[in-house]
Amino acid sequence: MRAKQSRGFSLIEILVVIVVIGVLAAFVLPGYLKGGKTPGGKQVESPIQRGHSVECMNNLNQIRQAYQITTGADEENRPQTLDEFTSSIPTSMKRCPVGGQPYQFDPATGRVACVQPGHQRH
Ligand SMILES: [Zn+2]
Repeated sequence: MRAKQSRGFSLIEILVVIVVIGVLAAFVLPGYLKGGKTPGGKQVESPIQRGHSVECMNNLNQIRQAYQITTGADEENRPQTLDEFTSSIPTSMKRCPVGGQPYQFDPATGRVACVQPGHQRH
């Protein structure tokens, strides 16, 4: 009598692998999604925080382009407030999506910046 040879994996083996992957994911994913610090002390943004950070950069770019379009080469009639040249931009885009603080505008230089820590280079 010939012994039955199995090819591939049995259902039990596949279920065991799925359970092991699930347990590992349960340990790793919350830390990944929450963000925090690495063992070396470096601050790591979660994917959601990174998305808000990119949104902040995009808002600042839109406002800077609005400033460029409004002022052009006109040095004498520079806007004095952010609202003078961002009337067509929604109010939600004039605030940092991370901290909620309004963007700061310097009328002397025309610079628009975010005050949220870590967003100074945006
Ligand atoms: Zn920001």
